[in-house]
Amino acid sequence: MKQIDYIIVGLGLAGLAFAEQLQAHNKSFVVFEDDSQTSSLVAGGVYNPVILKRFTPAWNGHQQLQLAMPFYAALEDKLAVTFDTKFSTRKIFTSVKDQNNWFAALDKPFLGNYMLPNISTSSIDGVIGELGFGELQGTGRIDTLSLLDSYKSYLRKEGLLIENGFDYDALSISDVGLHYLSYSANYIVFSEGYGLKRNPFFNNLPLTGTKGEIINIHAPDLAIDFLLKSSVFVMPLGNHYYKVGATFNWTDKTSTPTVEGLEELTSKLDKVIAVPYTIVNHYGGIRPTVKDRRPLVGLHPKYPNMAVLNGLGTRGVMIAPTVAQQLFQHIENKVALDPEIDIARFL
Ligand SMILES: Cc1cc2nc3c(=O)[nH]c(=O)nc-3n(C[C@H](O)[C@H](O)[C@H](O)COP(=O)(O)OP(=O)(O)OC[C@H]3O[C@@H](n4cnc5c(N)ncnc54)[C@H](O)[C@@H]3O)c2cc1C
Repeated sequence: MKQIDYIIVGLGLAGLAFAEQLQAHNKSFVVFEDDSQTSSLVAGGVYNPVILKRFTPAWNGHQQLQLAMPFYAALEDKLAVTFDTKFSTRKIFTSVKDQNNWFAALDKPFLGNYMLPNISTSSIDGVIGELGFGELQGTGRIDTLSLLDSYKSYLRKEGLLIENGFDYDALSISDVGLHYLSYSANYIVFSEGYGLKRNPFFNNLPLTGTKGEIINIHAPDLAIDFLLKSSVFVMPLGNHYYKVGATFNWTDKTSTPTVEGLEELTSKLDKVIAVPYTIVNHYGGIRPTVKDRRPLVGLHPKYPNMAVLNGLGTRGVMIAPTVAQQLFQHIENKVALDPEIDIARFL
């Protein structure tokens, strides 16, 4: 038996953020990952603390970014890979009411840090937007695929990644610890995204799951270096390539891209840009969403050495570093969890 501090099950944004907590505190661990979920791999990776549908602050978004930005910068140094691209965001106004709401929102807490107090009415080549644009600063994108690929390579080299599905039946639990295959661990943290549905210890939690589809396009006549936001986002990837997303589907629980998803994205895109484009890639994944739109974090009520880190929903890039830190402090130092994320709210 190999004695370690932690087993992590699932290496999406949640598992990665928790593994980083463990490394920062010199805890030993292994991660199990079976490629059964794709949410973190296909995510747009956008970070933006303003909800542009309603011009309201995203839940704790400003505070989460204060932790997330240095977190990703440190990871870039550690892995020697660049995956953070900072760009501004331009919201396409669709009505005069929209414009008025923009000005009204500037006075709301934190929004003035990101939303510029003037609106631009100059046209942008290839973009449909007669009513102009509102601009946000401090936004950008984490290339989550590149981040996770690099992180997996790093863990592989360190001998910390086990590329197998976790077999819940093979876990034995006692007061002194947990045993799984050749490992004996103090704690286990489950961060399986929508895969939580297969987890007999936590599958009673109200994880609903929301499928999202996203496409990459090539539009040679479009040359923007900011993210355009309308009913879809159009995000610059460089060399006239763009990512366009995303759909929201509450019934289909597969990660497979669909014809309907593609049609929805292209019909919305055709209302945003007026230049030809070709579709280069099409992806799908299930966002681990929760009915009250808050993460699912905490210790199992019966097994105190078993924890869950899930429910990152639609904004995993911003949320993951904060909730991973809170879970670590909760387990190791008995710091109370924010009641909004604590699974105790459902027990
Ligand atoms: C189309 C789309 C666009 C999105 N765009 C954005 C965006 O722009 N910005 C943003 O912040 N968020 C975005 N999201 C949401 C974001 O992707 C999620 O919040 C985040 O990825 C959730 O991370 P996670 O680690 O909790 O779950 P996941 O990414 O699902 O990771 C869970 C991991 O656990 C593994 N696993 C599951 N069960 C087991 C098991 N039994 N054994 C071993 N491994 C297991 C899975 O293979 C997976 O790798 C988007 C999501 C989608 C689908």
